[in-house]
Amino acid sequence: MLRRCLRGPSRSRFNVRSRVPRFLSRLLNRHVLIPLLVISFALFVEVYTHTQKYAVRQPDDHDLDEPFYTTCQEPRVDQPRESAALVMLARNSELLKALKTVQSIEKHFNRWFHYPIVFMNDEPWSEDFISAMNATVSGEARFEVIPKSEWTFPAWMDEKDAKSSIAQQGRDGIMYAGLETYHHMCRFYSGKFYTLQALQQYKWYWRIEPDVDFHCSITYDPFVEMAKHEKVYGFTISLWEQPDTCPSLFREMADWREKHNIPATELWKASISASWVPWPFRSWMSWFRHRDRHGDGWSLCHYWSNFEIANLEFFRGRGYQDLFEHLDKTGGFYYERWGDAAVHSLALAMLLDSERVHHFEDFGYRHDWFFQCPANAPGGQLPGNKLLEPDYPWSPEREGGIGCRCECDGSRTRNYATFCLNKLKQPNTTKRMSWFGWLWSMIGET
Ligand code: GDP
Ligand code: MN
Repeated sequence: MLRRCLRGPSRSRFNVRSRVPRFLSRLLNRHVLIPLLVISFALFVEVYTHTQKYAVRQPDDHDLDEPFYTTCQEPRVDQPRESAALVMLARNSELLKALKTVQSIEKHFNRWFHYPIVFMNDEPWSEDFISAMNATVSGEARFEVIPKSEWTFPAWMDEKDAKSSIAQQGRDGIMYAGLETYHHMCRFYSGKFYTLQALQQYKWYWRIEPDVDFHCSITYDPFVEMAKHEKVYGFTISLWEQPDTCPSLFREMADWREKHNIPATELWKASISASWVPWPFRSWMSWFRHRDRHGDGWSLCHYWSNFEIANLEFFRGRGYQDLFEHLDKTGGFYYERWGDAAVHSLALAMLLDSERVHHFEDFGYRHDWFFQCPANAPGGQLPGNKLLEPDYPWSPEREGGIGCRCECDGSRTRNYATFCLNKLKQPNTTKRMSWFGWLWSMIGET
């Protein structure tokens, strides 16, 4: 027994030594090596050609989306307003957080422009909420109760079954997925919101949420600028989606695009992570989540929808509403926990040219622990301007700053440029980040 043990390892060492050169010499044999190299090269060319189909065409001479202004403006209070409203969905219990948001947007924007604020709730509003808001807004405040039909399961759905799926999603630890109301909220904001009777009179909306801070003065009318520049959708922050909330959403979207022969826009390409698996194995990747039927994936990047300034007509139009109705019929708002941010973003990527999307990078904005805040523009702060009074203290001006009277100094942001923002902005911008710059900002963001 002992002898066998001692002999064992020495024999196997001998075997390994003798096998390696034999294996190498076989590999180096040109009858094997040459075909191997040819096949590897062909696979590489095939994969490279494939990924190039999703290479985003970047503009070569000028950016297709730029800040509307990069300094403070004297608010043009006599300029006609757009047909627009600020909108906030909230619960009575969120009064203090909602009030904080409204105070912030009034101080930084609406005290000059007096747009109406439409508050929406799935329950009747409390007297406290109504009187606190009426005392705070500088324009009209409207208090809407969402019709029950717009805040519930689709008519065809077996509610008992959907509820038990929701409970299971909760047990599985999927973010917010155990809350039935959260599913209703996401479905509402994905589609039903746009066809609400209460909003039919408006062409534009600016979505706000409880617990939001605006950090810079917004001294121009973003609705007027969106209209003037033919923009459809404006955002501040982009993020990646939690993968377990929407395993089949991208596949549904991609199938819809192909079924309706909608060509891949540059924005769509910018949302794709092309597969590096070569043909014929690539299509096997389609068995995985967040992949289309050819095996290519979605980067999960999307615009964070708690801030949106957008054209209601686009979302009310057939192109978007047909897509929403289709998504609704799949049951994914309940059997999974599809978020309205991902739904909006993929739909925009499918249906819009990239230059119709605007990044409000001059806005200081925070929600939860994500924020962006530019530095103040040198020489662009209009000190002493009568309309901008009272003069709240603002941070020092900095070279390259584009902000107006921002309370932060641009040195910190949590908008994860390297993960999502740069990807989604790629079709619109000529700027290229060097590897060093990429690494540097990645370190800063984590
Ligand atoms: P998150 O941003 O994904 O973390 O989700 P939030 O909890 O902030 O919800 C998004 C928006 O929907 C906020 O404006 C909430 O006030 C609102 N909301 C969420 N659930 C409900 C609900 O059950 N009823 C009402 N009225 N509003 C809700
Ligand atoms: Mn929120």
